[in-house]
Amino acid sequence: MSRIELRNVGKRYGDVAVLHDINLVIEPGEFCVFIGPSGCGKSTLLRLVAGLEEISTGELRIDGRVVNDLPPAQRNVAMVFQSYALYPHMSVYENMAFGLRHQKLPDDEIDRRVQAAAKSLHLDGLLERKPKALSGGQRQRVAIGRAIVRNPKVFLFDEPLSNLDAGLRIKTRVEIARLHREMGSASMVYVTHDQVEAMTLADKIVLLRPDIAARGLPSIAQVGHPLQLYHHPRNLFVASFIGSPAMNFLRGSAVACEPQCVRARLAGGLEVQAQVLAPALQAGEELTLGIRPEHVLLGSGPGQGVVSHLEHLGETSQVYLQVAGQEAMLLAKGALPGLKLGDRVPFGLPPEQVHVFRADGQALPRPAQA
Ligand code: ADP
Ligand code: MG
Repeated sequence: MSRIELRNVGKRYGDVAVLHDINLVIEPGEFCVFIGPSGCGKSTLLRLVAGLEEISTGELRIDGRVVNDLPPAQRNVAMVFQSYALYPHMSVYENMAFGLRHQKLPDDEIDRRVQAAAKSLHLDGLLERKPKALSGGQRQRVAIGRAIVRNPKVFLFDEPLSNLDAGLRIKTRVEIARLHREMGSASMVYVTHDQVEAMTLADKIVLLRPDIAARGLPSIAQVGHPLQLYHHPRNLFVASFIGSPAMNFLRGSAVACEPQCVRARLAGGLEVQAQVLAPALQAGEELTLGIRPEHVLLGSGPGQGVVSHLEHLGETSQVYLQVAGQEAMLLAKGALPGLKLGDRVPFGLPPEQVHVFRADGQALPRPAQA
């Protein structure tokens, strides 16, 4: 069991701040996912935890002890990279055993650990093969096996599935979730830019925001359970990043505020209500209203849009509506029989699904979901 704690952690390369003011606790046994756009510092943050990069400011604690200066080998962490990094001339067995031989463990203990990991990763028939005789998915499982045999308190994964094709990615994702359940007490810290991986694997998502460390702002945009970020994004950046397809954003302004409801008028005239815990908004204050494509009611409601693009996905369709006064198209998920380009369609925006953001991008809090 290991508790990882980062206090005011920052990282700079020369004059360039890459990460700023990271405050984060990863609880023992937790599956924590770092996500964010490319270049936001996910790998750097993981490497700070691993000890592969030096922390510029702040403190990293593992189980209460400051470990800023502890070398990687003494942190009881094991890292799995996107590139597998297997030794080509060694068999699967020797690749997995290598670190343990280095630690001078007895042969029978090494054998026990390698066999157990191979069994749990379905590699038992492949132990004598060389990496070049394995598929990408099998190689990635060997890389994971090499981490498992070390019996670490913390697993660190940096985009371990990015080199696999789509089908294998899903399979391996399920395998990693199973491994985490089976190894109950080990924490996993997992970097990905794939939000389906983040949503499906994480107990806790850490969403990092690029380009703000240099402005002296904290790099973490929001931390929480995946559904917390989905239902209660704290600001426009989180709202636009989490969810696929992305949330729709509509320009508007405040008309009136009640304790649990904001009434707003969209550019274009439509009046919309939103169930949010509203502070004193000034009538006329500019707002951005957000609604996810799956929450737009298609076929009924006071709104009107013109179908400008249609995508049929089989189980549902994606309907892009041009709405008067709005630059961006409104994307709705749902099927209306016989719908075609150019049709005029009514739509509704249910007040309990509408998000409201002020001009500075901050969201007005929404009541907890029932
Ligand atoms: P991510 O994994 O989120 O894509 P990285 O952590 O790899 O992002 O990189 C974050 C930022 O830090 C990038 O802008 C990158 O160019 C910069 N960076 C990473 N490593 C170094 C380095 N050794 N020297 C200078 N800049 C670096
Ligand atoms: Mg990276």
